[in-house]
Amino acid sequence: MQPRLNHTPDDIEARLIAKGSDPEFIDDFRRCIDFHTFAAPGLLIGVFMVDYALELLNPPAGEKIYAVCETTRCLPDALQVIASCTIGNGRLRVFPIGKFAITMNRQAETPQIDGIRVFVDGEKIGKYPTFALWYTKDPLFDPRTRGTALIDELIDAGRDILSYEWVRVKVPRKEPWRSAVCTICSEMVPDNLLVDGVCADCRAQSYFEKTAY
Ligand SMILES: [Zn+2]
Repeated sequence: MQPRLNHTPDDIEARLIAKGSDPEFIDDFRRCIDFHTFAAPGLLIGVFMVDYALELLNPPAGEKIYAVCETTRCLPDALQVIASCTIGNGRLRVFPIGKFAITMNRQAETPQIDGIRVFVDGEKIGKYPTFALWYTKDPLFDPRTRGTALIDELIDAGRDILSYEWVRVKVPRKEPWRSAVCTICSEMVPDNLLVDGVCADCRAQSYFEKTAY
């Protein structure tokens, strides 16, 4: 029999129920897996991270939350689904630092605000050997034979592999802008994104080439 590569959402739900997780939290997992399209380990850790950060931040119900994600991989989706911090609504900034860490803060008019940073703690992962192999990209980790063990371990670990710290977050200033036209491509761009009248696309190598048709 072929070993199964991944748990189904039902397997994950069963394990969460066995652990005594509350139904809302289990629903967070289901919604995140739907959005992400599969139960990636990094996404599942993200659900624990966002839940932990929100509990520590403890914002009033309905208040807008802002988030920074320190990796482009998986983790942004947990913030988008659970906390409604999205790229599109401007409440999520993603920095490709490559750390499995998030910072969440409440709305602020001040230049800085206290935020809670939750991260996977390298000092704590040793207790979870399969997770440690996966997290450190050890060649000994074989997803074909250890994929389900990884997910089980990760769910059992939950917050046990996480740490947090309070940090001062610089609140990005909203720059006023007007519409302007790039002198090279003639397309409209906010004026504060032009340099010497030229848009970022025309200044650097473009991400696309025009087709002939
Ligand atoms: Zn241009």
